[in-house]
Amino acid sequence: MEHSLTQSLIRDIPDFPKPGIVFKDITPVLAHPDAFRRVVGDMASYAREVQAEAVAGIESRGFIFGAAVALECKLPFVPIRKPGKLPYKTIREEYELEYGVNAIEMHTDALKAGQRVVVVDDLLATGGTAAAAIRLVRRLGADVVGAVFVVELGFLRGRAALKDMPVRCLVRFD
Ligand code: AMP
Repeated sequence: MEHSLTQSLIRDIPDFPKPGIVFKDITPVLAHPDAFRRVVGDMASYAREVQAEAVAGIESRGFIFGAAVALECKLPFVPIRKPGKLPYKTIREEYELEYGVNAIEMHTDALKAGQRVVVVDDLLATGGTAAAAIRLVRRLGADVVGAVFVVELGFLRGRAALKDMPVRCLVRFD
């Protein structure tokens, strides 16, 4: 499906959060109910296509889309958070940034073994964050059946980093 409206509502913010990075700001999509609904609807269609049984959203913009998809599909929502935010027992995965490392965490009881999980975030760049999220889900014995993003930065080759994982992105920038 075409997402020209969505694409026109994604705003480039040069040099944010640091010099040389062009930040893709999705807040205009959230402010436009028709576009937001369309994005959530297409992400939810994908979740149904891969027969997901749970939605895992990555902090923080992955919560906005992931929670909406989970409600739309009547599925459980699982937050994947930055370190130190989740109150119960957690597992953690680290991933490399341009400079240094980052980490994300998930509750140990967030998913059941064999549960089919779709991972949701706003944007696929290098794929490091999503790959770490996939490792977290798999450590609980659950099955990642796909990953869905609003935006793909094709030139950063995130799909390659996610190897054989089925990936759906609604808007691509090259
Ligand atoms: P990566 O791990 O390189 O695929 O980066 C993806 C994560 O970082 C996502 O949670 C995005 O929200 C965020 N991100 C990375 N690059 C950008 C960008 N240029 N604009 C907006 N968000 C970004």
